[in-house]
Amino acid sequence: MIIDLRSDTLTKPTAGMREAMFSAPVGDDVFGEDPTVNALEDKIAKLFGMEAAIFCPSGTMTNQIAIRLHTRIQTEVICHKYSHIYLYEGGGIMANSLASVKLLDGDLGKITAAQIAASINPDDIHAPETTMVSLENTMNKGGGSIYTLDEIKPIRVLCQEKGLKLHLDGARLFNALVETGESPADWGAHFDTISVCLSKGLGCPIGSVLLGSKSDIKRARKVRKVFGGGMRQAGFLAAAGIYALDHQVGRLKEDHARARELGEMLSKLPMVSEIFPVATNIVIARLEGTTPEEFMKKLTDQHIKSVKFGKDLVRFVTHLDFGDEHLEEFGKRIGGI
Ligand SMILES: *Cc1c(COP(=O)(O)O)cnc(C)c1O
Repeated sequence: MIIDLRSDTLTKPTAGMREAMFSAPVGDDVFGEDPTVNALEDKIAKLFGMEAAIFCPSGTMTNQIAIRLHTRIQTEVICHKYSHIYLYEGGGIMANSLASVKLLDGDLGKITAAQIAASINPDDIHAPETTMVSLENTMNKGGGSIYTLDEIKPIRVLCQEKGLKLHLDGARLFNALVETGESPADWGAHFDTISVCLSKGLGCPIGSVLLGSKSDIKRARKVRKVFGGGMRQAGFLAAAGIYALDHQVGRLKEDHARARELGEMLSKLPMVSEIFPVATNIVIARLEGTTPEEFMKKLTDQHIKSVKFGKDLVRFVTHLDFGDEHLEEFGKRIGGI
């Protein structure tokens, strides 16, 4: 048995999801005529209490569309230095939107209203105009850390005062919500746009959704087109999203419980000096006296897959296809390394 903890994107559609995909009514979504895509967009917009939504192939695309909506050439985005939008989207802020970025530091990948306030550029000929703030929840590089709504509220107030757009990279937002018990609408109320991935813990093969106002999502459809993301009978994919929202949200709690146990197991290894606090489904281990390459070689010898996540860090992500039997087996195998 291979134990693959590289990412929660590795999950394969469940039998129920495949059934829903197979039987989905479809049409041409570029004409706005795919009933299943339309149903997914309506459903998720209502869930978040936001006006509209657009279904896209990836979370990179939904984030990059949001950046295009909220910036212009020579303007600037504020985000954490470990943000996905900055580190893992191929330089898209620059390449897609010709915008600059100001990177902030902060514990577990999170930034505060005070830091943001101090980083807004003055109205000065030398400076790019700050137009947008982007947050990430849960925070991948922060070990799946969670922002509380109390941390978000002052950021929202500040952005409104200063006329800045606020975007949430909520690739794993549902992981946060099942832990805090907050509702999607609690979060929808505080952001101009939210990106949510269906292809991570929710277990879909493809797909992310961007939520926002009617006018922003109307513009987003044009941006999606120029990014090459206009899909035709995409209802087969959207059906997976509807199924996931109906059946595979609550179970994320199981992934978190297994991640906590996995973190406990790893913390007992002599070469592990620290485990980041495990808040959701991501476990980051800091190594001591060995390198990620050496440590991961020992793991692969035991048929356990993980990813290097920094010069002394290794990441493990729990997911739909990692059950109790895999966890137990993981414990046995790492005993031997
Ligand atoms: C996965 C992920 C995305 C989007 O990634 P895609 O692979 O393009 O769907 C965006 N933000 C975060 C934090 C992610 O983990």
